[in-house]
Amino acid sequence: MFRRARKILALSAVLAFWIAPFVGAAQPTEIRVGVLAYLGLEEAESAWEPTLAYLNATLPGYRFTMVAGNVAFLTAAVAAHRLDFLITNPGHYLELKIDYSASALATEQDLDGFASGESVGAAVVALDRRKDLQHLTDLRGLKLAAVAPDAFGFRAASRELQDRGVDPLKDVSPVFVGYPAGGVLDALRSGRADAGIIRSCLLEKLIGQGKADADEFKVLGRKPTDIATCQVSTRLYPGWAFVKVAQTSAPLADAVTRALLGMQPGPGDKIWTEPNDYQTVQELYRSLKVGPYAPFTRLGMADLLWPYRYAAALVGMAALWWVSHVIRVAQIIRRRTRELEEAHELARLKDAKMEHAMRLSLMGEMASSLAHEINQPLASILSYARGCERRLAHGEDVDGVREAIGRIAVQAERAGDIVHRMREFVRKNPARQEPLEPAAMFRDALALFEPSAAAHELRVKAEVPDSLPPVLADRVQIEEVTLNLLQNALEAVDGQPEKRVRLVVTQEGSSIVVAVSDNGPGLSPAARERLFEAFHTTKPGGLGLGLSLSRSIVEAHGGRLSADENAQRGATFRFYLPIAQNEAQENVQERALV
Ligand code: ADP
Repeated sequence: MFRRARKILALSAVLAFWIAPFVGAAQPTEIRVGVLAYLGLEEAESAWEPTLAYLNATLPGYRFTMVAGNVAFLTAAVAAHRLDFLITNPGHYLELKIDYSASALATEQDLDGFASGESVGAAVVALDRRKDLQHLTDLRGLKLAAVAPDAFGFRAASRELQDRGVDPLKDVSPVFVGYPAGGVLDALRSGRADAGIIRSCLLEKLIGQGKADADEFKVLGRKPTDIATCQVSTRLYPGWAFVKVAQTSAPLADAVTRALLGMQPGPGDKIWTEPNDYQTVQELYRSLKVGPYAPFTRLGMADLLWPYRYAAALVGMAALWWVSHVIRVAQIIRRRTRELEEAHELARLKDAKMEHAMRLSLMGEMASSLAHEINQPLASILSYARGCERRLAHGEDVDGVREAIGRIAVQAERAGDIVHRMREFVRKNPARQEPLEPAAMFRDALALFEPSAAAHELRVKAEVPDSLPPVLADRVQIEEVTLNLLQNALEAVDGQPEKRVRLVVTQEGSSIVVAVSDNGPGLSPAARERLFEAFHTTKPGGLGLGLSLSRSIVEAHGGRLSADENAQRGATFRFYLPIAQNEAQENVQERALV
């Protein structure tokens, strides 16, 4: 029992699957009819619904559906092949005819009774109390309200004004109020405009509906018409067109035409008659140079860009802002860079001046001790010279005299050397670096320091090994640094019961380390921070330049100078000098051989 029922169910499912498409094919074909909604969608629907309902009833194989929209929307729909027919105004039809080969199947005939081809016009209305307004030429220099520049009524009235020598855009000031067209009358009532353009018969319709008083408005420049029901100011043109687009099939178009011409209208319904050739509309457009006859405007670049004008203006402004911002930033960068360069240059000049001043001051500070050092060879020279005199006076041996003269020459050369180097140093000449044996250099420095040490009853303990590798250095400058450190150490230990100063030279990796330590008061943390600052001194007669100059000399040699507190007592100053490269070492060895 159940099995049978299941079988029937399965069978009917299979049948339904196969039959469904054929049932679907029997459905009426959808036909899309575009409708120009110039008074809003609702108005368009109520105006044209009877026509579509009639077509649906007369041609049951089709389902006519309404697609309402404005001119731009409908034109785009035609271009996209999304419509089969259109009901539109004569101007729009003319454009579609030229651009998309559309053709009119029937022309709307107002039941108000004008002859075929003379169905629509425009009335130029003004408030009845405006006695100054009688003719269209009275409008010169006044405000004229209309729905829109492309409204058919405005165009029809423009032609009449133009014929009377009044330019509708220049000689009058148009005020466009938009749809619905009743807004034109409101503009007159509120005084926003002196006169207004409305479609023929609209005034009568509004009076009939009680929306306007019979004696409130008057029509300017009236034309005699066949039928007196509506007053018009313009020529009459054919009514709206029922239009077929290019790809709609001929049999369907025939069927629709026949149906339309056979339509029996109810009260207030539209009536369709033989299609008009719309020649008069064509003339209207040509005389106004609008629509299809607008010079150079159709498909022009400006037309394409016009809808995007606000976005384009925004993009343009953003681009302008961006460019000006980039230029401003570039200018700021350039100005800051220039300021920085100037500041650097100023600092460099200041440094150079300061260094020069420091050298000079150091010279002043060291002048006395150097004078003393030069005095030493001078004293030796003097004593050797006196010895020679004595020996010669006593007629003693020539050999002794010759030896003394040789020593005089050596001492004189030494003194000259010191003077020469000092002059070079003060002149800001670059250091004259040459490969030097550290042992000899530091022993010389110690020898120079010896008289000062002796005057303060100090014996400097020195550890200077002979085996140290050579360094690339300016002898006089390094001796000055060493002497400065020894002098500071001497001053630090002055007054100590037991004075201890040590000079230790060692090798550490690729550097020679020179350490000068003392058992003086050491370095307070505050003093340590400012130790190497120029002009920092804690001594009554001090200049505060020795350490800063010493550091710059050592750094100019590629080394560094530092100060440390001793674990026990006092301070240790160390400076590092890089060992000379092989080539330089060889030079030293060669010179030693020579
Ligand atoms: P000056 O000797 O003319 O003061 P320096 O630049 O040589 O200039 O020294 C700066 C300061 O550093 C000194 O005034 C002193 O306070 C401190 N100083 C230098 N050497 C030592 C040292 N061995 N022990 C303690 N303080 C020192």
